Amino acid sequence: MIRYSEKIQSLPPYLFIELDRKKKQLQEKGVDIISLGVGDPDLPTPQHIVEAMQKAVADPKNHQYPFGKGIKEFCSAVSNWYKKRFGVDLDPETEVHSLIGSKEGIAHLPLAFVNPGDYVLVPEPGYPVYQSATIFAGGNVWYMPLKEENDFLPVFEEIPKDVLKKTKLMFLNYPNNPTTQIATRKFFEKVVEFAKEYNIIVAHDCAYSEIYFDDGKDERIPPISFLSVPGAKEVGIEFHSLSKTYNMTGWRVGFVCGNREIIAGLAKVKDNYDSGVFTAIQVAAITALEGSQECVESNRRIYRERRDVLIEGLKSLGLEVVVPKATFYVWCKIPKKETSISFAEKLLTVGVVCAPGIGMGKSGEGYVRFALTVHKERIEEAVDRIRKIL
Ligand SMILES: *Cc1c(COP(=O)(O)O)cnc(C)c1O
Repeated sequence: MIRYSEKIQSLPPYLFIELDRKKKQLQEKGVDIISLGVGDPDLPTPQHIVEAMQKAVADPKNHQYPFGKGIKEFCSAVSNWYKKRFGVDLDPETEVHSLIGSKEGIAHLPLAFVNPGDYVLVPEPGYPVYQSATIFAGGNVWYMPLKEENDFLPVFEEIPKDVLKKTKLMFLNYPNNPTTQIATRKFFEKVVEFAKEYNIIVAHDCAYSEIYFDDGKDERIPPISFLSVPGAKEVGIEFHSLSKTYNMTGWRVGFVCGNREIIAGLAKVKDNYDSGVFTAIQVAAITALEGSQECVESNRRIYRERRDVLIEGLKSLGLEVVVPKATFYVWCKIPKKETSISFAEKLLTVGVVCAPGIGMGKSGEGYVRFALTVHKERIEEAVDRIRKIL
């Protein structure tokens, strides 16, 4: 008899899997599916990045184990990009480390800092890896609800003091998946103060910093780096990814930067678990970070157009939506009589896939998430189909 470990058994059920099964069933019946569920860019990686990769992959000097934090040129490119984009100084030698996608770094971080019984503060609804990583490290998850009445920011005052005494690490993510909220400088300043008071490591996931929409005056646009706040580097690190910014989800390249001791801890785990990011991919990533950023501008234009089509459509259906200022998601309130699962199942009957909010945490109930990762004509079609059943 095969028995799974207690850790595997204590992972919460992955609700998206059931939805995915139903989606496949419909597909087999020949239903045309419009997939607004998973957030994976449909647009291709920009040509100049692909060409850099083609050249780099042919060079034998890139074929060996890429051990460690990454090639010097990659770490410098990250450091220069941070300076230019966020005004943040990073020592490429000690304050930058490449990752096999930021998911990999996030997943391994708690292993470096969390002992059994320690708490990790995890925002919910949120990216599921924060909680599974905590569970794999033997830590306790303390959920921080992100609610609309609190501007989708965690309320630190609600966390019991005896939990805080045993808290080692806190995950945050702004611009936020799934609520699309952007953090203000003031909030990040509060985070630094709070982290210092309770000696908590801050791990800020910044995967969507480049997917924002400039609709006019908004001090939160473009999104800032957590590390740009005074004192942040003493308490925290920031995870970043090329996945969303440059449509490179399949390439698996990201990085972490900030506090050198925290990075050294994560590096220790990684040295034992993996052997680094394929050097040719690092070379391509340098081209992405140092080349023209027109491709990123173009991504933003496309997502914005799609966003406007979906928002207008959902509003015309009488649904309550928060107009996203960042990320490629729409976080949509559903009618009171539905649950996020019943609503998602209803949409599925007309071939529209969305992500039920409950799948990302308890406070996600009452919402569904739509990803803007299909062509705008398909979004129009999705709205028409939803109209027929509501
Ligand atoms: C997509 C995503 C990531 C992970 O991206 P990688 O492809 O692993 O770099 C991390 N955090 C959030 C919130 C995401 O949505």
